[in-house]
Amino acid sequence: MTTGFFWDETCFWHGGGNYAGMLPVGGLVQPLDGGLPESPESKRRLCNLISVTGLAGDLAMRGAPPATQDDLLRVHPKSYLDEFKRLSDAGGGELGRRTPFGPGGYEIAAQSAGLAKAALSAVLSGDLTNAYALSRPPGHHCLPDWPNGFCLLANIAIAIEAAREAGQAKRFAVLDWDVHHGNGTEAIFYDRGDVFTVSLHQDRNYPMDTGAFADRGRGAGEGYNLNIPLPAGTGHAGYLAAMERIALPAIRAYAPDVLIIACGYDAAANDPLGRMLAHQDTFQAMSQQVMALADDVCDGKLVMVHEGGYSEVYVPFCGHAVLAQMSGSKITAPDPFGEVFHLRQPDDAFDAYLDTHLSALAQALG
Ligand code: ZN
Repeated sequence: MTTGFFWDETCFWHGGGNYAGMLPVGGLVQPLDGGLPESPESKRRLCNLISVTGLAGDLAMRGAPPATQDDLLRVHPKSYLDEFKRLSDAGGGELGRRTPFGPGGYEIAAQSAGLAKAALSAVLSGDLTNAYALSRPPGHHCLPDWPNGFCLLANIAIAIEAAREAGQAKRFAVLDWDVHHGNGTEAIFYDRGDVFTVSLHQDRNYPMDTGAFADRGRGAGEGYNLNIPLPAGTGHAGYLAAMERIALPAIRAYAPDVLIIACGYDAAANDPLGRMLAHQDTFQAMSQQVMALADDVCDGKLVMVHEGGYSEVYVPFCGHAVLAQMSGSKITAPDPFGEVFHLRQPDDAFDAYLDTHLSALAQALG
């Protein structure tokens, strides 16, 4: 059993600007000193942690070439790519909402997509048992012609289209457990039945106007999109219940050739961009759940692509647990917040409310 870990130093060099647009800086709001949330540190420190603990030695550490122009054109219109490249060559800029980039941003985004593409390809070819792509910038919010939410290219969609073009698979399932709605992945495949998109997210976090349960797909894609909005404050047990009762049975019924996880860590209890109460054990347990499902329906073919997660201190510990689970390594990085976050879970009244919510969703699905 071999787990691949795909990464590239240049992904840490993506200049995401200071995201002044996220905060109402001005007037009486004093500008912050330093970067705002999409910093490379959460990702770089994950690399550092697996190196320090030795977990990296139990993984196949790999690089990958950037996604090619042909790869990008399967998802994004030429007009968008041309404008992105022009601004990137001119020193950087902003083409959408909360997606500033620095000089060379185009090449770095293509590198990020290339990691996802290579991870998926290596798993589908049987070269690796499963794989993790440490992509940055992330991708799950990006629409074909409109970047948003830190996402400049739709990494997972680009990887899927490359795998399809290469004849490696026909049916794909994407499960997005980032705390924000995977609106880009949803939009790209909304009319299609060959990619089943599932998103668990905090209800009306980001984007605020997408991610409703009622949005099930359109035309040939009707029934092949599933949103599972969860109330703010959902914790460890709530996440596992939503997976067990709704997300996993739906993917099982779809029976994909491969399962791809849009793996964000911003549902963690101390994330600045989420209001959930997940912790290291939650991510490890969800990894266990999806590995068991992948074993049952697609010969264990599982690929995780890194999305959000903005606690520079905590993301590495959650990612370490995911990678240890994927690889079967016994090397651990004990949760420095574990004691507090295990206590800081919803009360019985919240759990009863969530149970009612999930029952209603399960019933609506039949
Ligand atoms: Zn997110």
